[in-house]
Amino acid sequence: MSRLRCDVAIIGAGTAGLAAERTARRAGAKTLLIDAGFTGTTCARIGCMPSKLLIAAAEAAHAVRQAGGFGLDASLGSIDGTAVMDRVRRERDAFLAGVIEQYAGLPDDVCIDARARFTGPTSLALDDGQQVEAKAIVIAVGAKPVVPASFDAVRDHILTNETIFDLPSLPASVGVIGAGPLGLELAQALARLDVEVMVFDAGDTIGGLEDQALAETLRIILEEDMPIQRGVKVVASAVAGGARIRWSGATRGERTFEKLLVSTGRAPRFDDLALQEARLTLDDHGIPEFDRTTMQCGASPIFIAGDADHERAVLHDAMNEGGIAGHNAATFPQVEKSRRTLPFSIMFTNPPLAVMGTIGRSGDIAIVRGRARYADQGRAKIARRNVGAAHIYAEAKGGRIVGAALACPGAEHMAHLLAWAIEHRQTAIELLELPIYHPTYEEGLKPALREICAAVDAPTPADRDDGFIPGA
Ligand SMILES: Cc1cc2nc3c(=O)[nH]c(=O)nc-3n(C[C@H](O)[C@H](O)[C@H](O)COP(=O)(O)OP(=O)(O)OC[C@H]3O[C@@H](n4cnc5c(N)ncnc54)[C@H](O)[C@@H]3O)c2cc1C
Repeated sequence: MSRLRCDVAIIGAGTAGLAAERTARRAGAKTLLIDAGFTGTTCARIGCMPSKLLIAAAEAAHAVRQAGGFGLDASLGSIDGTAVMDRVRRERDAFLAGVIEQYAGLPDDVCIDARARFTGPTSLALDDGQQVEAKAIVIAVGAKPVVPASFDAVRDHILTNETIFDLPSLPASVGVIGAGPLGLELAQALARLDVEVMVFDAGDTIGGLEDQALAETLRIILEEDMPIQRGVKVVASAVAGGARIRWSGATRGERTFEKLLVSTGRAPRFDDLALQEARLTLDDHGIPEFDRTTMQCGASPIFIAGDADHERAVLHDAMNEGGIAGHNAATFPQVEKSRRTLPFSIMFTNPPLAVMGTIGRSGDIAIVRGRARYADQGRAKIARRNVGAAHIYAEAKGGRIVGAALACPGAEHMAHLLAWAIEHRQTAIELLELPIYHPTYEEGLKPALREICAAVDAPTPADRDDGFIPGA
């Protein structure tokens, strides 16, 4: 049995682990990056990239269906599900090849092909029989889908994000369990690719959005593609050719689906990590307590990053956290606090939902909301995408922007402008003083900014005309 020694051992070679390894090595640490049978990151293999590829196919189908509205004679005919899934995999594999090349290019002796479990706060046992002694350890084990036991009877018909992209073709019908961002993105894409889709959720939120009014606006839009049953309990049973779902509530009913996509959440991959041996303080959900500015777990030599910490399960945070964790693991016991950016997430439905910063009251600070509707917005009407709304939140005193939730065309791009404005502590009035081109989706945000100015008693400058815009 061999014993390996290093400064920083990283468990998991996903986006967070790779970033942690790079920054630790750059800080002069001898690193070991441990993962079993590495076939690419979650993002490239079963996450961001294949899901966006499927969504891109759905957008193309939708565009053809919309063509008649522009006076174009285009008809979709049938959708070749095998060709759609082949393209998803082909392009996904090209992204994967890049990740695998990056992994293969790591210096000799860094990568270890094994599963790790803790045997102490600075020691690991690998499933190939080796032992690792490290000065510090980074947990970057990612997360896996949680399939409730109540679906055991229909196991053969269940899809998760780990299996859906390997389907040889598109199923005829899919029941989607869970109306969170992952479920809704894929549900709408499948529906637009002619799969019969129905979404079920025990709660009453849409994409986890706290802003009830905007969630309702988005629900109405999304229901044009597929019914969304909220506040329902479902019971699944196996029947010939699929899974039958019986649901409770005001709309109660039953329906058989060829497949069920279970997207009820993802939990950190702690099952075989023997976390108890690391002697960390765990919260009520079994997640190690950690400082989000250092990624250190308590005062221990253990750091955590990415989906494993169950906080912000998005890629840019996984990467940032990996960088912070790797650097601090290399310099431990010296650790430095890093500035974290605001929470920011995007659900790639059409229209997209982008949420960032603080929504609603923030401690003692009163917040005001400015609203903009896109039903009558100039550019949105030009593109026949005139649905949805944008809500911007600002401090009631002074109008500094603190958050936003956008469910409107262009949301994924405009969200960046607002996220940057929040990071730069800009006020609504300052944004209104910046150039905004006509006719763009950005122009549609002006009413929300003006509503904030009015609410915080910060009138738009006297030399600015706020008049009617849509056709200018
Ligand atoms: C369907 C889907 C769509 C998504 N879309 C987006 C999006 O559009 N935009 C966005 O920002 N985010 C998106 N995300 C989230 C994003 O993909 C994740 O936040 C990110 O990939 C997490 O990276 P990670 O490094 O934490 O985990 P991973 O990439 O999962 O890496 C964890 C690694 O740890 C290894 N491991 C686990 N246990 C052990 C062990 N005991 N020993 C050794 N190795 C171990 C695993 O094998 C794995 O390689 C999406 C996620 C999903 C599921």
